[in-house]
Amino acid sequence: MSTATMKRYRNLIGGEWVVGAEEREIRSPATGHVVHTVPVSGEKQLDAAVVAARGAVDSGSWSWDPELRARVLFEYARLVRENIDALATELTRESGKVFGLAKNEARRLAQSIEYFAGITRWVYGRTISPRPDLLNIIVREPVGVVGAILPWNMPLGLVARTLGPALAAGNAIVIKPDELTAGSSAAALELLASIPDLPAGVVNLVAGGDGIGKAMTAHPDIDMIAFTGSSDTGKEVMRACAGTLKKLSLELGGKSPVVVFDDADLDRALAGTVEGAAFYHAGQICLAGTRVLVQDSLYDEFTDRLAERATNMRVGDGAERGVQCGPVISEAQLQRVLDYVEVGRGEAQLAAGGRRLTDGALADGYFVAPTVFRDVAPDARIAQEEIFGPVVSALRFSDLGEAAEIANGTRYGLAAGVFTRDIDKAIALARRVRAGTVWVNTYGQLFQNSEMGGMRESGMGRQYGLEGLHEYTELKNIAIGIDPRLAPGS
Ligand code: NAD
Repeated sequence: MSTATMKRYRNLIGGEWVVGAEEREIRSPATGHVVHTVPVSGEKQLDAAVVAARGAVDSGSWSWDPELRARVLFEYARLVRENIDALATELTRESGKVFGLAKNEARRLAQSIEYFAGITRWVYGRTISPRPDLLNIIVREPVGVVGAILPWNMPLGLVARTLGPALAAGNAIVIKPDELTAGSSAAALELLASIPDLPAGVVNLVAGGDGIGKAMTAHPDIDMIAFTGSSDTGKEVMRACAGTLKKLSLELGGKSPVVVFDDADLDRALAGTVEGAAFYHAGQICLAGTRVLVQDSLYDEFTDRLAERATNMRVGDGAERGVQCGPVISEAQLQRVLDYVEVGRGEAQLAAGGRRLTDGALADGYFVAPTVFRDVAPDARIAQEEIFGPVVSALRFSDLGEAAEIANGTRYGLAAGVFTRDIDKAIALARRVRAGTVWVNTYGQLFQNSEMGGMRESGMGRQYGLEGLHEYTELKNIAIGIDPRLAPGS
């Protein structure tokens, strides 16, 4: 693309689109071409955004007027629906993501905003009379200024999941997307910022690297951090937030098990396992079911079929029709995935993939063949560590007890899947697995009105649903004394 037509994204601070400290060119991980530039911000831009956000929560009507918030959010959802193709195009250009998937993500942005627009008027507490002369009103209030630190793998979906409940509950927000996908995040916020009723400073975007994230976790005027990213960074964030005791929500990594019993509907289990592995986004999905646990008597047949499916997938630029698996996001991610593949070769049997793809146009991008390892031991590194690439480890189990033990045998607890025709087994396993979401005879669907989140090192707090809304609120007890002579029953 020529520099003249290239879009130069900016930060959104206090209702104005402003430059960062520097500018960075973003290249498509599929083609290597520069697609646009994004701002690289410093603490000056962050401070200005926090001042604007603080001003918006302290002085305006935003935090106190749910009707205003509902109106703005419904209008935003309408604008997103009108621009789904444009947003998806931007997302595919910057991430190589399969276009149909990018459209689903843009649609998810609209759906999430609609959902949270609908429940802005559900932010309420309760009233208790602990004594005849006392009335306690428990009100839910916004936390204040929310700092959202987001990764690159689902920029629109994650902006929606964070911004929707934060704004519905009456907060102002400062969003720091990952630099690599700041373009689609900015494009999504351009639509929001165009709504005249949105008070300046309620929504701010400060694009930048890890340093800006760190500065946010230490910032004295940010009240809450909503962090999505890896478990190791999540721990750093938690430690840093301790300095000012910020409210914190953490959505972290996973190594989710998919358990296939020998009585499962095979075609359904296979389809669910392939979908669960998230090959469609080169495995770069937190909920990906990357540990496939198969019962002994089915193991060989199932892993052969899984390997065949992986081998036959069409890999390429997500912008091209018919592509089923896009590139990984960056050279660093490519190297990380290939390093894990080498580890896997030493620990298990390679059944599919296991290499970088460089044929023809693929040579310009970061493509990895969908990879399946079989005969993986539960304590192998490729069964324990999140690879975040198109790599699946197939493990064996003999009975439900062993399946549950292996399923729970990592530091993570984000999601799990179980395929069986036996409802007792399904429920028994679902109850024994320590994971925030368990899918039975299906995998991967999320809905705005159903909570999701992680256990153990996969995070804390819940997203979506009423609990997801409540994450962005504080409870206050207003205790009212009543003249005892006038109290009920006196
Ligand atoms: P990452 O942890 O490296 O980075 C995430 C964000 O944190 C980025 O914006 C980054 O700039 C920022 N950051 C990095 N170091 C920081 C620090 N010390 N303090 C504050 N901010 C900092 O993660 P990633 O590689 O970008 O994303 C992939 C990870 O995200 C995977 O582990 C994936 O499972 C996870 N993820 C989880 C969910 C979920 O819902 N649980 C959703 C999507 C992605």
